[in-house]
Amino acid sequence: MYNVITQLFFFLCSASLLYTQKIELSTPLEGIAGKDFFIVNYVDHDSSVNAIKDYQCGTQTYDGHQGTDFTLRSFAQMDSGVAVLSAADGVVFHVVDSLYDRNKVSIVERGFGNWIGIAHEGGWRTYYAHVRTNSALVKPGDRVVAGDAIALVGSSGNSTDPHLHFEVWKIDTVLHDPFGPGSCGVQPSSLWKNQLPYDTEYKVIDYGLLNWVPTLDTLRERPTPPTSFALPDSVVTFWIHQQGLRTGDVIRVEWRRTVDNALWFEYEFPVSEQDWWYHYFWTYINLPPSDQYVVRYFINNREIIAREFDVDGSNAVEDETPVTGISIRYLPGDWNILSLTQTGNTPPSTLSLTLFDQSGKRVGKLYTGEVNSERTFIDLAPLKLSAGLYFLQIVEKAGIGSTLPIFVSQ
Ligand SMILES: [Zn+2]
Repeated sequence: MYNVITQLFFFLCSASLLYTQKIELSTPLEGIAGKDFFIVNYVDHDSSVNAIKDYQCGTQTYDGHQGTDFTLRSFAQMDSGVAVLSAADGVVFHVVDSLYDRNKVSIVERGFGNWIGIAHEGGWRTYYAHVRTNSALVKPGDRVVAGDAIALVGSSGNSTDPHLHFEVWKIDTVLHDPFGPGSCGVQPSSLWKNQLPYDTEYKVIDYGLLNWVPTLDTLRERPTPPTSFALPDSVVTFWIHQQGLRTGDVIRVEWRRTVDNALWFEYEFPVSEQDWWYHYFWTYINLPPSDQYVVRYFINNREIIAREFDVDGSNAVEDETPVTGISIRYLPGDWNILSLTQTGNTPPSTLSLTLFDQSGKRVGKLYTGEVNSERTFIDLAPLKLSAGLYFLQIVEKAGIGSTLPIFVSQ
């Protein structure tokens, strides 16, 4: 009965960077940036622990990351076969491709998993990590030229999602970030033939509706969308996969009936903890009465998505007064309160609110009672919650409900 806001990261390392004789690199995988793959993490240029800086002094990296992560949309896309390409002419010096390639959790010890190494003139070396099982098209000693397909993108080793982790070294002792120049990088000029732009704009990678409650892993696989919503479906799920969410951004989701724009449920919460460069979010409502609806997704009051859907043949609450608009807001930090309001000229609603932790364990009943146009505040402090993700289940008297994520930060 819950849903999740989810945040994924990738993996590892630390760097001292020097400039030496140049190498000219081409993009090490096929496809178009921002469409077929997304740069999720650059090299971390901040050597202190728990501090990060990409080459432009931004946050598009994680602590100790030594490479560039080119990440696919999904495992379904990985299955279609996306080629890893040699970034420059050279000689293959290492090939491993026998390891499992559908990892979805970060286990540092797994390292590169399947990887290919190529030696280039001038003592340069490039590394292509996490490739697919049995996908290597080269063997040690093979000569390759820039752009040759050498394997397929996978998720072997320490990897949560299908991606190519690409590293550039000089004589194996000095790590290079191929991107430059940048205020926090060390490369006076780019090592790329055509450097992909540094793009920190918010973007939607994918989104959709489902008639069941997904998990992070099922979303990563990209489930087939339903053709309609009707009993025996019990829920309507909205999910989104996005890049470039910033700390302090406010997400808002509105569920409305199309005919009169009546608000079903609305909630808001601020993005916290960090900026997110590969982020899944989902939420769902119980199946509403037969009608046409729209779910609207906003960031900082800017509408990002409006997705309509029909519900047919639901008799769950056909004869009940429809749910009246409820706006729910979580205020984090020192506040640590939920704020409930009824919007519009509708009679008060009776709601029951229950909090669950990530494992689905019931933390406690938060509230049962009326919500009207006066704000109702629920103080979460007495619960002494540890920081992390929780799910708030909201059930209205007619059985209509919604479940939404609450990220408690302390
Ligand atoms: Zn990486």
